[in-house]
Amino acid sequence: MTLQQIKKAIGKGNFPKSNTKLTFPDFALSPKNCITGRKLSKLPLSTCSICYGKKGNYTFPNVEKSCQKRKNLIDKELFNLETWLIFLLKTYHVEYFRFFANGDLQSFENLVSFAKVAYSCEKVNFWLSTKEVKFINKYLETFGTFPENLNIRLSNYFINSIKFNNSVFLKDKVTFSSVNLDKEKQGKKGFITCPAYRKSRRTSDFGTCGSCKACFSKKVLNINYIKH
Ligand code: SF4
Repeated sequence: MTLQQIKKAIGKGNFPKSNTKLTFPDFALSPKNCITGRKLSKLPLSTCSICYGKKGNYTFPNVEKSCQKRKNLIDKELFNLETWLIFLLKTYHVEYFRFFANGDLQSFENLVSFAKVAYSCEKVNFWLSTKEVKFINKYLETFGTFPENLNIRLSNYFINSIKFNNSVFLKDKVTFSSVNLDKEKQGKKGFITCPAYRKSRRTSDFGTCGSCKACFSKKVLNINYIKH
């Protein structure tokens, strides 16, 4: 397949361009396909009840269509997807890549496959956001650890919660994220607040990552996102 055909198959015609918030390329699915997120979104204080992926650009028909392409690849052509992602990342010399800017892991096999992408692209820094703790636990039970260049950031289920951060099993293996944490919980070592929406609205990079790459760092234990 040609480069253009691969980009088309993956629904990433503009690769390596990202969405508006991120300043690095990403892989996204529709939140309609979130396994845990779909259940959480019905609970009023869950972080999924205020999901940004259900509004704005993500609702455009062409974006939904591309998300569906990627969902089909995960379900039916996971090996091809893995091969194509590796090819794109190497071809474009990508330095930072986010799995699941929107949407979430679809299976344990999906996680294994994306970890293989990370092992194959050792020069790329990966960040994978997820609420699928069962796949994370199974991966760690099976393989012990994630690739050095893949930061799994486990997203706490509820606003103002850091429940997952207390897991002894996950300690030092993954990092965490929270939403709208109370001030006293934010004072912990390794906790930062996402700067994207703390900038002045008048700055051109308001609402974007700019030069920040904190979510990729295993040294940043918890990132607190502010509801926007
Ligand atoms: S902490 Fe930094 S890298 Fe993470 S979402 Fe916020 S701005 Fe982007």
